[in-house]
Amino acid sequence: MLKVLNPATEEVVATVPAATPDDVDKAVVRAVAAQRAWAATAPADRARALRRFAATVDGHLEELARLEVREAGHTLGNARWEAGNVRDLLDYAAGGAERLNGTQIPVPGGLNVTILEPLGVVGVIAPWNFPMPIAAWATAPALAAGNAVLLKPAETTPLTALRLAELALESGLPEDLFQVLPGEGAVTGNALVEHPDVAKIVFTGSTRVGKQIMAKCAERVKRVTLELGGKSPNIVFADADLEAAVAATPMSFLDNAGQDCCARTRILVQRSVYDRFLALLAPAIEAIVVGDPSDERTQMGPLISRSQLERVRSYVADDAPGIRGTAPAGPGFYFPPTVLTGLEADAPAAAEEIFGPVAVVLPFEDEQDAIRLANATAYGLSGSIWTRDVGRALRVSQAVRAGNLSVNSHSSVRYWTPFGGYAQSGLGRELGPDALTAFTETKNVFLSTEA
Ligand code: NAD
Repeated sequence: MLKVLNPATEEVVATVPAATPDDVDKAVVRAVAAQRAWAATAPADRARALRRFAATVDGHLEELARLEVREAGHTLGNARWEAGNVRDLLDYAAGGAERLNGTQIPVPGGLNVTILEPLGVVGVIAPWNFPMPIAAWATAPALAAGNAVLLKPAETTPLTALRLAELALESGLPEDLFQVLPGEGAVTGNALVEHPDVAKIVFTGSTRVGKQIMAKCAERVKRVTLELGGKSPNIVFADADLEAAVAATPMSFLDNAGQDCCARTRILVQRSVYDRFLALLAPAIEAIVVGDPSDERTQMGPLISRSQLERVRSYVADDAPGIRGTAPAGPGFYFPPTVLTGLEADAPAAAEEIFGPVAVVLPFEDEQDAIRLANATAYGLSGSIWTRDVGRALRVSQAVRAGNLSVNSHSSVRYWTPFGGYAQSGLGRELGPDALTAFTETKNVFLSTEA
């Protein structure tokens, strides 16, 4: 049994039975049958079914959002956006089903065509930090491309996934095509990874577990997409609009209480404006409203669990220099917004993904130094560049090794643009116009005109 806690109150919200490896086996058998029929369904009919699913989600946005607040402690505003994101992902992928075209390639002596075929059954293993959107990032395009999906949500956040599976059935999506299997990662998740009839795993979570999953997939040459951790830079040049850069900084690492793989947790500031930047940042951090996530005025809620709270605490010494915001004393897994100063770039808090509301500020000298510091990480997920110089914005965008960059902004995830990491932040891309092709095999067929 999985015990689901409300992170804001520490009360038990629900208990959910965990799927055993035997349950996974049975689910795969059902999914294989459902996928065959689904793949044989005309693209326009698949698209229509997914649009109906999107419409059903749309009719339950507030309910899904409230469920997310209760099980994950997300602020209500964020949770509403997340439920809407599921709807949008389904709508966008539905259009993809109608446009999943192969190519015709000129060859002598005949006609050469490529066909994009579904993989079969796809296993999606999701984390707790954005339970709904991340599950839907993979589920929507996988279904649209003609696959069945078995989704294993994180132990702490299975409720929205289970509700989405009910809404899928309610909308008329074929039975067994999209099944949710809550459970422990090492048991239920692992059973999906090892199952010979699961053709691909899409894993979002820690780099540590991602490496284990990739190794297991390698034994079977199983397809894999990995969305892993990050320690993303927010690079502020002296020629930036400093007020705008400061105003955007707090939520660039405090959104979702910092439990965001794209959180800009390494704030790199050109030395000539370093002191002014910190002086402006302090009141902005202190003003962040931390508290009950179901209150519309709250900007930052609790962390997901006690163990996550302990982990975040372990990185911040009581007397560490920097800026501190405020947080409720408890109950609930709250940690105050924190900006650490005076650290070396290789100190644990500056180098490791903390996954909490903690950032470090490091000074740099010039453009080359900024690029060096930005790239001095094992990760490569996101990053931001603040400058008024267009040439510099382009040069630094080209030099920083990360999959998702933004200039004079911290935005990085839109369902219609590609998303994914360099280096130890992951493998493959999700979202964007090519999202469906990650769930297909390309078959090349040559038809001779000479026989
Ligand atoms: P986690 O790796 O502990 O767990 C992620 C999922 O994997 C959970 O569902 C878990 O049950 C499952 N799992 C754990 N061990 C497993 C195993 N041996 N076999 C199969 N499945 C297993 O990560 P988490 O703590 O839930 O999530 C936080 C991490 O996710 C952070 O590192 C964050 O950066 C990363 N993340 C990355 C992205 C991205 O898109 N790059 C997005 C969100 C979160």
